[in-house]
Amino acid sequence: MKKNYTLNPKPYNLVIGWLYPELMSTYGDRGNITVLQKRCEWRGIKVEILNIDQTTTNGDLRTVNLLFGGGAQDREQEIVMRNLQDKKEAIVELIEKDIPALFVCGAPQLMGKFYEPAEGKRIQGLGIFDMESRHPGPNAPRLIGNVIAKISEESIKYNVSSITYEKEEKILNTEYLILNTIVVGFENHGGRTYLGKDAKPFAKVLKGYGNNGEDGTEGVVYKNAIGCYLHGPLLPKNPQIADYLIAKALEVKYKKEIILEPLDDSIEEKAKSAIAERLGIAL
Ligand code: GLN
Repeated sequence: MKKNYTLNPKPYNLVIGWLYPELMSTYGDRGNITVLQKRCEWRGIKVEILNIDQTTTNGDLRTVNLLFGGGAQDREQEIVMRNLQDKKEAIVELIEKDIPALFVCGAPQLMGKFYEPAEGKRIQGLGIFDMESRHPGPNAPRLIGNVIAKISEESIKYNVSSITYEKEEKILNTEYLILNTIVVGFENHGGRTYLGKDAKPFAKVLKGYGNNGEDGTEGVVYKNAIGCYLHGPLLPKNPQIADYLIAKALEVKYKKEIILEPLDDSIEEKAKSAIAERLGIAL
């Protein structure tokens, strides 16, 4: 149930970590950063964007309150992964500490157990998500098109954060922001992802291919980290997910319940409906 609280007292501030902006930003993924930044600023939340690359130390990484990683082609993924191994400890630590994250396409492939590219050697992932991704080979058809998916209630509902209020022993819950939400996105991947038996999918595919075009799953959730195949970029057309990530980040940082001021999302909703209508789904 939505409540009408405002974020008070100000100022709040967040560090948003952006994984390898130069190498990982396919199909408009950088738009996700703009959305997170703007939706924070419109509410008076100060944002610092930390571009994570070869020069970033684990100390810098530990300041991150919200992590984002976009898509990349196989060649870039390999370069990133060689560097990411040095940052494994700090990234795993962030996710284990409930820091919210959004990983799109190439990024979650690297956060899983491994990714086998179309050509060349298997790339070991960070093992955050219990899943494996394989590209069947250079001649395999790519999974391309618009996607509509419904966020899996079981993934989100039981994913309540383990952090508590400063004084009260109460579980925080911002999950209402995205429960039962329909998301739209654009996918373009050669890799097929298969979830392990303990992994929870992010969403159920209504139209499109999703993780592998076979089992109807789209993406993966672990703690407050979301992996998905949804480019487009995702957040401008699905602002609820942006707010979910922002609210989670503030909750974890300030250890108190955060209810974000509502924003006028009528244009975003129109964009989403336009895609849904095109695919024959009424929202
Ligand atoms: N290289 C990956 C694949 O084709 C990821 C592509 C992407 O991030 N768009 O599966």
